Amino acid sequence: MESFKMDGTYTQNDLTRIVEADKAHVWHHLVQHKPFESKDPNIIIEGKGMRVWNQAGKEHLDAVSGGVWTVNVGYGRERIAKAVYDQLMKLNYFAGSAGSVPGALFAEKLIEKMPGLTRVYYTNSGSEANEKAFKMIRQIAHKRYGGKKHKILFRDRDYHGTTIGCLSAGGQDERNAQYGPFAPGFVRVPHCLEYRKHEQDGAPEENYGLWAAEQIEAVILREGPDTVGGLCLEPVTAGGGVIAPPEGYWQKVQEICDKYDILLHIDEVVCGVGRTGEWFGYQHYGIKPDFVTMAKGVASGYAAIACCVTSERVFEMFKDDATDPLNYFRDISTFGGCTAGPAAAIENMAIIEDEDLLGNTVAMGDYMLDQLRALSDRHKVIGDVRGKGLFLGAELVTDRDTKEVVPEAQVQAVVADCMAQGVIIGATNRSVPGRNNTLCFSPALIAAKDDIDHIISSVDGALTRVFG
Ligand code: PLP
Repeated sequence: MESFKMDGTYTQNDLTRIVEADKAHVWHHLVQHKPFESKDPNIIIEGKGMRVWNQAGKEHLDAVSGGVWTVNVGYGRERIAKAVYDQLMKLNYFAGSAGSVPGALFAEKLIEKMPGLTRVYYTNSGSEANEKAFKMIRQIAHKRYGGKKHKILFRDRDYHGTTIGCLSAGGQDERNAQYGPFAPGFVRVPHCLEYRKHEQDGAPEENYGLWAAEQIEAVILREGPDTVGGLCLEPVTAGGGVIAPPEGYWQKVQEICDKYDILLHIDEVVCGVGRTGEWFGYQHYGIKPDFVTMAKGVASGYAAIACCVTSERVFEMFKDDATDPLNYFRDISTFGGCTAGPAAAIENMAIIEDEDLLGNTVAMGDYMLDQLRALSDRHKVIGDVRGKGLFLGAELVTDRDTKEVVPEAQVQAVVADCMAQGVIIGATNRSVPGRNNTLCFSPALIAAKDDIDHIISSVDGALTRVFG
């Protein structure tokens, strides 16, 4: 087969061949392939800043950072590419049982941003980082409580990854429907979406946040506090509806974890590394997690890297009895030893600092929230606008009083209309019936007012065309 240059200068023949090869052999993530029998898949060829170009040369403004909240510092960052190249030429890999230069330096830099936490366990996907935390919680249960305090609580609407372990802790039912049976010992607690509290029995008009947290306590009491070892939560729920928990929620959650000696695991796979305007989402709420997992924005997709970060208290439990042959974390992630990830992550973090992208995220997040609210004045189909930083959602309803969700086809029509206009937006997890009605916006942290105006005007046009 004829080879061709991978330097990005493709001829029309090259592009035709790429599309054919893709259609013949690539199984795309998350999509039904039947439509590709009659149309071509979208192949993203190139990116720069907040824009990407597909095989037809069409420019798109990316309002979802690579589709899934990942490219936080934008495309085409030479500084990161160069750091990765230099590191790969020096040393590409050695198993994580040994250390590496970028591994040590990134861990030091990361821990500076996470007071109270001290240890970084490297892995290569968000799911895997969450599995590490689950395994550590289980091992602590065996070591300290004879295996009894092994249950891990997760929340309705939250998502923690694609493995069977993570799906066992998955609060999005239709994602799970075809993959059971699941691992035992994972227990669901109710969601905390104030806009939909009318669907929850007994939810009060006032102090909903406190009530929602108390529902977690009720589950702990039902299960038996001596059986519950961990609580895993997203700081702001992503695919389950862009849900920033209500006032009072997190303080009560922390109190509950302290009271029942439950390890708090915060899944920052989406929120981590600037997305919400703080380095980590949990830092808005003054809580003290025992585990923080992160992935997508850690190196903005320039290399695969994820981390499970723990407190020294957790770490110490795995080394306090060196005479016990089982008392260490008997775990490896082969590609957790790749050096490209931490090399990219160091530069990614330096860019966020040098360009004050946290400040930009707060300012542009506020601006975008205001613009979405203004849009909701013009479009009655927008029932709620919410989120934090550059992590925002607009929930679409057929009626603001009943809050009946709009049909999925219409949500997808809005997304498709924006795409046709050259703006890529997202929608919440398509596989959850009745919960797929939130438009998602997560532009790169470099977004400027012009970019946001462009996104908003595209959504404005799409809503008018779809809903009148
Ligand atoms: N946790 C959250 C909150 C996520 O949104 C995701 C993926 O979207 C994951 C974990 C899983 O991460 P990965 O796809 O890297 O395994």
